[in-house]
Amino acid sequence: MSAVSIEEQFERLRSTPPDALRALVLDDRMHDLVRACAVSLLPPEALDGVIHDIMTTGRSYSLVDEAALQRPTALTPHLAYLWAMRVDNDLDIEPRWWRGADATEIDRLAAALRTPGRGYAHELAGRCLAESRQPAAWAALADSAEPEVDAWLAAAGARRDGDGVRSLVPPACYHLLFEAPAQARPRAPWLTRWHPTWAAGADPGLPTVTHGGLSDAICRLCAAPMRRLLLLDPVPAGLGVTSRARVDIAYCRACTGSERSAYRHDDAGRPTLVSNPTDAVAFQSKEERPAVTVRLAALGPRWAVQDWGLANDTQNLNRLGGEPTWIERPDYAPCPTCGRLTTALAQLDWGCLEDTGGLTYVGWCDPCATSTLTHQHPYR
Ligand SMILES: [Zn+2]
Ligand SMILES: [Zn+2]
Repeated sequence: MSAVSIEEQFERLRSTPPDALRALVLDDRMHDLVRACAVSLLPPEALDGVIHDIMTTGRSYSLVDEAALQRPTALTPHLAYLWAMRVDNDLDIEPRWWRGADATEIDRLAAALRTPGRGYAHELAGRCLAESRQPAAWAALADSAEPEVDAWLAAAGARRDGDGVRSLVPPACYHLLFEAPAQARPRAPWLTRWHPTWAAGADPGLPTVTHGGLSDAICRLCAAPMRRLLLLDPVPAGLGVTSRARVDIAYCRACTGSERSAYRHDDAGRPTLVSNPTDAVAFQSKEERPAVTVRLAALGPRWAVQDWGLANDTQNLNRLGGEPTWIERPDYAPCPTCGRLTTALAQLDWGCLEDTGGLTYVGWCDPCATSTLTHQHPYR
């Protein structure tokens, strides 16, 4: 199989009937990228069988991450086994595998966290509890005096707030379906045709979004028109935005660069820069981006968490809502008005839209109607 090009392997993937995809996923003569794409094409319930095959044969462990991210419950029956097999032998695990942890597993982890002592298993219990996102698990962490609790929760998009734990990730996630001309760097045709995050159909029940062009807001520092990243008019449901019906996410290229910046939105959703001006090192390379209308796809929970490393330049990371695809450490920006951490409103992938690379993360503080822009770059 090694003499067969990746294009030919994708052709084989294309001609594989759905009921034979599972065998292709587990065929370790196939390129990892082709197999990962095959995982993404399987119906979600078929991922239970893939995980079962991997667990019982001990082969293709590299696909556990991919399958478990898309279908956390596929790993639920295997978590106790994975812990005993790997953690007890000081082997690496991925805390995100515990996103599908059930009550029994959460009880076990909470007991491990309460057991005095330090070390790998103790820390992993805390990280896995955070990743499970279950109320009982977060309650156990909120009560814990462990110094690392805030970092564990941040990795799962959560924050201690009062007596409890608050999620910084809104319930909805919508993928932005950019038309080809808006993308400076064309994707390999098999990806735009095959990967569900690219090939999804737009949801006709959702509003469209405007990207690019100029905002109707003027920069308060230099009086230039601001540049529009996303106009949400109206804001789709489930994104944690209730204080404004319309939100214009825009910035001034002359006054704000790739440092963090913040904007207060008036009643009509128009932004005003409220952070200090920063050195204007652009995160966007093009001087002008024409306004384009972008349709939305609601792909459900399967694609609401996308990992930077696993996506590996093959997935559409342009989204509203969902959990941010952090390139570096999780970095939910604080609201400059109230100091609470903002929730995840959107992310844009400049490696797809332009040739600069990196992601821009849009945060939102609903009571203050304030947006933040944060940027991470893979080559920094
Ligand atoms: Zn300006
Ligand atoms: Zn605020």
